[in-house]
Amino acid sequence: MDADIIVIGGGAAGLMAAYGAAGKATVILLEKMPRPGRKIMITGKGRCNFTNVKNWNDFAPHIRTNQGFMRASFRNLTPEKLIDFFKKEGLDSVVERGDRAYPATYKASDIVDALHNAASKAGASILAGKQVRCVKGLEDESGYSVNCADGTEYTCRKLIIATGGLSYPGTGSTGDGYSWAEDLGHTVRECFPALTAIVPEGYKNLIASRVSENGTPLRLPQGTLHGHIDREIPLSDWGKSLCGCSLKNVEASIYAGQDLIQSEFGDLDFTDGGIEGPIGFKLSRSCVKGIVNGNRIRLVIDLKPAVPANELAARIKSLENLPPKVLLQKLLPTELIAGFTDSNSKIFKGKGLDFPALAKALKGWELNIEGFVGYERCVVTAGGVSTDEIIQKTMESRVCPGLYICGELLDVDCDTGGYNLHCAFASGLLAGQSAAKSLTNQTR
Ligand SMILES: Cc1cc2nc3c(=O)[nH]c(=O)nc-3n(C[C@H](O)[C@H](O)[C@H](O)COP(=O)(O)OP(=O)(O)OC[C@H]3O[C@@H](n4cnc5c(N)ncnc54)[C@H](O)[C@@H]3O)c2cc1C
Repeated sequence: MDADIIVIGGGAAGLMAAYGAAGKATVILLEKMPRPGRKIMITGKGRCNFTNVKNWNDFAPHIRTNQGFMRASFRNLTPEKLIDFFKKEGLDSVVERGDRAYPATYKASDIVDALHNAASKAGASILAGKQVRCVKGLEDESGYSVNCADGTEYTCRKLIIATGGLSYPGTGSTGDGYSWAEDLGHTVRECFPALTAIVPEGYKNLIASRVSENGTPLRLPQGTLHGHIDREIPLSDWGKSLCGCSLKNVEASIYAGQDLIQSEFGDLDFTDGGIEGPIGFKLSRSCVKGIVNGNRIRLVIDLKPAVPANELAARIKSLENLPPKVLLQKLLPTELIAGFTDSNSKIFKGKGLDFPALAKALKGWELNIEGFVGYERCVVTAGGVSTDEIIQKTMESRVCPGLYICGELLDVDCDTGGYNLHCAFASGLLAGQSAAKSLTNQTR
């Protein structure tokens, strides 16, 4: 055997798994990019919000699928233990609003360096530029073989797959682990982009972008999810009028047909991708899931959630002598007026305003959501390897003994706030430690 343990993928989960396993076993980590941790480098806008210092009861609701599955990993690596781990590697942390922890230097590269150093010092060999092509169980069931694109082959007794999800493929996360897991007999729950921009109908110039120069419709690439609207697609004139607007303290609700799916209070932003910002992201998971499943999804924004409808109507009435433009400026941020009025033509009556209709539109600005930005710019992949087939106390597969799966590759995804990286670190550490422990148990 070339190593006791091979870890595939040098992201948050893989580096932590290598650290957790090294010292007790020979460990090789194979990373396809020239350097490990490329995705970590872009987290938290380069500042890396690496964990969230909530206790389990407050942390767990931010895990959107299979919360209970993460409990054992979380206990093994709490946010406080993770902060201590980085401190021992010489990196202090700061905790900001919403219990979000960052390195005190605010440099994601310091997190990557700390992880890399910790794993190397513990004895793991980290090999970069090693793209794994396929993995197989050895015929005598003594372990696994791993083949790389450069023709090299490695064998090991225990294998840890930590190849991440599909988001930001330029960082190396191209979803390779899903097909290996399937080939090895696992169920992969349907994947879809989460924490992504959602696109209101008419926001993008879809007609221009889906027609080639000779006027024939362009075919979307194979495997494109229903509703995927690439971030690069240009904005429509209406989209341009809204892009750059930020809404503070609004309530936004998602409906599938007439059914209320989710409501959130906070801030949202209109960007070149669509609607994002804190509550845009929070709502995006339900939106994308609904669209992929063929539902008609509506976003309803209450621009004045603190003012009851009757009070708002009275307030508008008290302003009725003002010219429409001045009145609207009293009620809305100036930069929002054009985009808001364009999609709410019912608020006009002749040359003036229809006050009840305006009050209604301010309390419930309806936007049909026709799509979402895909893996090219989403933060996390929802779906993945079914946690039913993984032992939560060890991260070992129930289907293939000696195989461990961790990180975003699993069917676990969380809100923004440091939860995703924490789950990757925690499941990675548990996988590494458990793989090493199982070797010592075997040799006893
Ligand atoms: C823009 C952005 C910002 C984010 N910000 C935050 C944040 O601030 N806080 C937070 O908690 N989460 C954040 N996330 C989410 C978080 O980064 C991920 O959930 C986390 O990195 C997942 O870790 P992972 O180790 O499972 O996968 P990854 O970090 O994706 O690592 C997988 C690794 O496997 C390697 N690999 C893939 N295929 C192969 C192969 N065939 N052979 C060898 N190696 C391979 C890849 O190159 C990669 O290095 C952000 C994500 C994005 C895209």
